[in-house]
Amino acid sequence: MTTTNNKHDVIVVGARCAGSPTAMLLARKGYKVLLLDRATFPSDTISTHLIHPQGVATLKRWGLLDRLLSTACPSIDTYAFDMGPFVLSGSPGIEGSPVSYAPRRTVLDKLLVDAASEAGVEIRTGFTVDEVLSENGAVTGIRGHSKGALPVTEHARVVVGADGLHSLVARTVTPEQYLDKPPLEAAYYAYWSGLPMDGRFEAYDRGDRAWAAWPTHDDLTLVIVGWPYAEFEANKADVEHHYLKAFERAPAFEARIRGARREERFLGAAVPNFFRKPFGPGWALVGDAGYNKDYITAQGISDAFRDAELCGTAIDESFSGKHTFDVAMQAYQSARDEHVIPTYEFTCQFASFTPPTPEMQRLFGAMHGNQEAMNGFARVYAGVTSPATFFSEENVGRILAAAG
Ligand SMILES: Cc1cc2nc3c(=O)[nH]c(=O)nc-3n(C[C@H](O)[C@H](O)[C@H](O)COP(=O)(O)OP(=O)(O)OC[C@H]3O[C@@H](n4cnc5c(N)ncnc54)[C@H](O)[C@@H]3O)c2cc1C
Repeated sequence: MTTTNNKHDVIVVGARCAGSPTAMLLARKGYKVLLLDRATFPSDTISTHLIHPQGVATLKRWGLLDRLLSTACPSIDTYAFDMGPFVLSGSPGIEGSPVSYAPRRTVLDKLLVDAASEAGVEIRTGFTVDEVLSENGAVTGIRGHSKGALPVTEHARVVVGADGLHSLVARTVTPEQYLDKPPLEAAYYAYWSGLPMDGRFEAYDRGDRAWAAWPTHDDLTLVIVGWPYAEFEANKADVEHHYLKAFERAPAFEARIRGARREERFLGAAVPNFFRKPFGPGWALVGDAGYNKDYITAQGISDAFRDAELCGTAIDESFSGKHTFDVAMQAYQSARDEHVIPTYEFTCQFASFTPPTPEMQRLFGAMHGNQEAMNGFARVYAGVTSPATFFSEENVGRILAAAG
């Protein structure tokens, strides 16, 4: 037996970085929103959870930054890229948002779910969506169940898939996929105590090994080590060995981590890279469900926040009659793609472990010691400055000329 319930304006499937803010923003505009997730909160998920200053600015705009700060999450004001012969050390900050944070997902996602609830969203956690329902080519709702309970159906004008990389909504509507690239790197991370970072994000580039470390809650430091995806199978049998061996390429860091203690098990991932058309009749996609990329530049959470704002605005504009659904959602897709495609290409390049060209090596050398250029590079990594702008002939010429 299936119970059919009342119609909602919007059903959002998935309640983490993309889903909870989308639901919250729509509820704040007065819509009737149902938010569903098979997880319960607080709970962890695979993610190294660095939020660049732009994402932090979004939390502030939503009135949620103070809540994050009250959890004693350490701030990060410097990004230091250790290239071997020298370190490029800059500030990723933007006006009004000078620092980054890396809150544990147990903290961040719960904060976002609570904010959605306070905005009036109806939330069901521990609820699995089993099926996306359609009529005459348009999505009309979902069928799902709470643990041990009978299935229920719920209907809405729009179903938003915020259900991550393996999105059921996307698998059901099979949207056009573009700019695909296979997994490029495999990486593993763990949390360490006794490895103080003093407000720094440190990244190390050593040929076919790259790693990074940054502080999070509870005086812990997250350290992630990556290698080319081609080594994934060979290395997975002894992750700890390959993870620790990488540090031999930077003895000063190796000495620091030798004095530290690993507090949690290794977690790892290798993900595909793709864009999906994020809308169609009765449905939309936000976050990883609509656009996924390697995590090496830590863009996912900030991107999910941006999607929530853009998609929420588009749904509101279509419900209020300002634009048709297609026109409003096309604007969402265009704004998303325009903003992220250059960073996507930069991210994939980074994740492919291709050695820098001689021109690029020369540029890095010229950047060293030029604070403005190093800040600029930190902001490219943080997804603020477009790589197209930073690596433009004009800017590169300026940096090289300043180096003499
Ligand atoms: C190793 C790794 C490191 C990363 N590090 C960073 C980083 O440092 N900074 C950063 O910004 N990004 C990082 N990312 C990316 C970031 O974690 C994601 O972009 C972000 O979590 C996407 O949020 P989301 O809400 O779209 O999806 P998710 O966080 O995946 O949430 C999807 C939710 O949907 C729910 N769900 C799925 N299917 C169903 C269903 N059928 N029924 C009910 N519920 C369902 C799931 O339970 C889940 O809670 C990293 C990713 C990886 C893999």
